[in-house]
Amino acid sequence: MKWRIWLLSLGITLVCVLTFGVASTQAYYQSSIDDSKRFLRVYMNAFDPAAYALDEQGAKDFSQKLNGARVTFMDAQGNVLADSLAQNADANHADRAEIQSAVFEGEGFAVRGSSTLGKNMVYFCKNFNGDYLVRVAVFTDSDWRIFARTLPLLALFSGVMLALSAVVATAASHFILNPVKKLAAQAVDSRTVTAECAELQPVADILNERNRNLRSQMQALQAEQEAAEKARASKDEFISNVTHEMNTPLTSIHGYAELLQAGGLSEGQKQQAYQTVLTQSERLIDLIACIINYNKIDTESLPSYAVDLSALAKETLQALRPAADKRNIRLIQNIEDNVILQSRHELLSEILGNLVRNAIKYNRDGGAVTVTVTPCLLSVADTGIGIAPENIPKVFSRFFTVDRSHNGKNGGFGLGLAVVKKICKASGWDITVQSEPQKGSTFTVRFDT
Ligand code: ADP
Repeated sequence: MKWRIWLLSLGITLVCVLTFGVASTQAYYQSSIDDSKRFLRVYMNAFDPAAYALDEQGAKDFSQKLNGARVTFMDAQGNVLADSLAQNADANHADRAEIQSAVFEGEGFAVRGSSTLGKNMVYFCKNFNGDYLVRVAVFTDSDWRIFARTLPLLALFSGVMLALSAVVATAASHFILNPVKKLAAQAVDSRTVTAECAELQPVADILNERNRNLRSQMQALQAEQEAAEKARASKDEFISNVTHEMNTPLTSIHGYAELLQAGGLSEGQKQQAYQTVLTQSERLIDLIACIINYNKIDTESLPSYAVDLSALAKETLQALRPAADKRNIRLIQNIEDNVILQSRHELLSEILGNLVRNAIKYNRDGGAVTVTVTPCLLSVADTGIGIAPENIPKVFSRFFTVDRSHNGKNGGFGLGLAVVKKICKASGWDITVQSEPQKGSTFTVRFDT
């Protein structure tokens, strides 16, 4: 770019200098011709017919008086009578332009070149009353000779101009390229770029737009990476939890199987060993069923349809009444009729079953469970053991159980609320819990979020 500016500016300078040289040479040549014509007219005025005979001597004398200007005398038709340059004395010059003009119009000028001398001659011919013609002529430099004479000056001038244009080109390239360089440097840093001049503003705008897009793409990519990282960590945690949950029953089954194989157990001990193997393998089967159920929720995207939540809530309470009765727990229905939701029967049943089962399981004997259903919400409140404030954020996490001692035959795996949360999230509902230790908990699902 810098070199292009340089070459362009030097080229322009050279063309200008040459044009100027040729034009000024022409102007100078033209003015010297005009001068010669003026002189010749003055010379002609000095001709006195009485003083000079129209012969060779007369021509030479008049020429001498005119400082050596060429003098030619001709008859009225243009036949040369005498010429101060004797060799042309017998030539007929009648076809020459200045003589033609003099014969027919009284006087005439002409300029002719002499290639051998590198000079031109300016002629002025005058008709003296139709009696004879007098022609005077002086040399003048040809335009090429004038040009050749001005060449050294022109070369010097060109040199100065080229040096000047080099300085100007350097300064111009600095002024033009510096803002571009600054813009490029800013763009490298991916900052918001500012243009120093209005002409570069569109470029700055494009760069800023690109940078903005790039930044948002980077952010999206980062978010995707974080999500992938989170998913990977969550999967690792899930696997570790599953293996942990499986470990206890498997160790137990393995231990009792070894004892049975070794033999020597009393009948009572054998029965206890069989019972433990049975209980622990059932627990394993339950665990696997729970995991399959949990995973099914986001792998299945089955169509939804209208489900009567009111009827389903009443059915759930009915089904769990024996478990509540066992512990003298009252089931209170606060259910509006005909609350219809767009969902699936098994999903709502999963939510209701988990929440009501927990409300009974973590209740005190003789307590109460209240199920409320309105078009906006479903809530399950109990008067049980409650949840410590530090555990409230964790209750919806997979495999979270406050009291690990529950993890026996009747204890859950900590997947019930995780399933509820997962269904709510997939359905666009909001689930919250309010709880106070030893007073009770209320789980609320809001459908109108
Ligand atoms: P689990 O199968 O252990 O019940 P959940 O995911 O249903 O698993 O519940 C996770 C944990 O949250 C439970 O272990 C329990 O400690 C606590 N929890 C759930 N519901 C209640 C409730 N109604 N009252 C008190 N604690 C509860």
